[in-house]
Amino acid sequence: MPKIEKVEGETFSLRVTRRKSRKRSKRTSESARIRVKCGCCDEAVEISHDDRLISPASNFLEINGVMGTVQEWRHVFAPLLGFQPVVSTAKGGAKKTTWESLI
Ligand SMILES: [Zn+2]
Repeated sequence: MPKIEKVEGETFSLRVTRRKSRKRSKRTSESARIRVKCGCCDEAVEISHDDRLISPASNFLEINGVMGTVQEWRHVFAPLLGFQPVVSTAKGGAKKTTWESLI
């Protein structure tokens, strides 16, 4: 049974369990997973992810069955979490996005 980590908040504590990736057979494996359960009921969000962070553009997260790159999810969630994008341009013209905290 995975260890339940409580994330304390203003009202209810989120209950978080983590599972490392594992091989099921020679050809199949299960991704690493984070399950976040509501503090007041059994509603949950399940996030499957790669154990290794290669790059935000090529790593995928599957959140409740919806697949997207880390970069895509960052654009969805960062504003909700109090971050805004700061786009800078290097000498060669390559654009780089960093995230600035608004809080
Ligand atoms: Zn609830």
